[in-house]
Amino acid sequence: MGSVCCEHCTSVCCTYLALPLDKPVTRRDFDDIRWYLMHKDIIVFIEDGDWYIQVPVPCANLRPDNLCAVYSTRPSICREYKAGDCDYAGGSYGYDHVFQCEEDLQVYLKERRAKARRRKTAKKARVRHERTATS
Ligand code: SF4
Ligand code: SF4
Repeated sequence: MGSVCCEHCTSVCCTYLALPLDKPVTRRDFDDIRWYLMHKDIIVFIEDGDWYIQVPVPCANLRPDNLCAVYSTRPSICREYKAGDCDYAGGSYGYDHVFQCEEDLQVYLKERRAKARRRKTAKKARVRHERTATS
């Protein structure tokens, strides 16, 4: 906080936690993510290939006037966060995917499976073509 646009914002960036998740691989990993998404207002997102869970909980130091009560001693993560490409400014986060409910995850998994099937079919066709060309 502290830039010009922060003065007009309700400090959106101080109202949630976003924590990294292990990249899901197994059916059980994805089922755990499905469980996270069953909880109200939980968001899971992928950014640059990394998975995160977003928990909507305001920082205890956020004052009613939307200013930071511990501004001079605020944690490093708050100091590093840059206004201008943030929630208020509507900056691009480069999200690969955002999941707001379990249905979002199911759609993603369905597309992923379809993509894998297409890749497999294309590979088989390539191998067949190569064999025909060399025989
Ligand atoms: S969301 Fe952006 S504008 Fe608002 S307080 Fe945070 S950094 Fe400042
Ligand atoms: S410590 Fe201050 S700047 Fe950091 S999240 Fe809390 S209110 Fe916001």
